[in-house]
Amino acid sequence: MINHAPSPAEKLQILEFYAAAGIDLAVDDEAIDRLAAKAEPPPAPAPQAAEQTSRKERVPPAAPSPAPRAAATIAPDEAVMQAREMAASAPDLTTLEALLEGFNGCALKSTASRLVFADGNPEARIMIIGEAPGREEDEVGRPFVGRAGQLLDRMLSAIRLDRNQVYIANTVPWRPPGNRTPTPQEIAVCQPFLARQIALCGPDLIVTMGAPATQTLLNQKEGILRMRGRWFDYACGARVIPALATLHPAYLLRQPAQKALAWRDFRALQIKFGGLQASRPGDSSQSTS
Ligand code: URA
Repeated sequence: MINHAPSPAEKLQILEFYAAAGIDLAVDDEAIDRLAAKAEPPPAPAPQAAEQTSRKERVPPAAPSPAPRAAATIAPDEAVMQAREMAASAPDLTTLEALLEGFNGCALKSTASRLVFADGNPEARIMIIGEAPGREEDEVGRPFVGRAGQLLDRMLSAIRLDRNQVYIANTVPWRPPGNRTPTPQEIAVCQPFLARQIALCGPDLIVTMGAPATQTLLNQKEGILRMRGRWFDYACGARVIPALATLHPAYLLRQPAQKALAWRDFRALQIKFGGLQASRPGDSSQSTS
């Protein structure tokens, strides 16, 4: 523990330690010294006028808390209900994005820089769903623009697809602090918007990348290594859309030996998509052959 005012070199060391631990953003403008807070208990509520005799025991009133940022101020259940109503009211993707921009039911919004709604072609017949935006996505406002995104582009190109032939979104549209996995509650609150996004895009095939997207969207409980390579049914109103579970590109960057499995999955996608195209020969704009 440093007992003196830290030197610039020590400050840098602390910041490097935080960055290595994945702490790369400040939640508030002012730092909170939680150790000091422990030594000095929080102020008690101001006593009533009639009780103001024991002045010694009085504690000064708490400083006004900083004005809340656009944070989740509503209870989770209410937030889910609000999300459902808002999402259901969107007649198109542009409106849905605007509604999501104004939605304050997910706490991730208050730490993210911006909404990361989608990328690619909303008319595409394949929709890809990832986990959550990372730092680069948060800066740019588009999903999969960082290293994982570059790998995704290469995987698509290996089956003769590019971003104009897919539509890409995430289980949550705001970056979780430090790139942590979104919590089930955060995913649940955003889920009605994602479901509506899928319905409005109306893809013929869905690809879920990684455990959070596969488990929540396809209602599965197993680990991704067990689920990957399997086709599930995604119920979208009256339609059932085939959905392929696969490994997340960020995982493949950490475990390159597993790329062979992802390659198998993408080949399966290519074959399924080829079959769809053969049954609908009119649509030559999205050929993979
Ligand atoms: N990982 C994801 O799951 N989504 C992104 O948009 C970027 C990285």
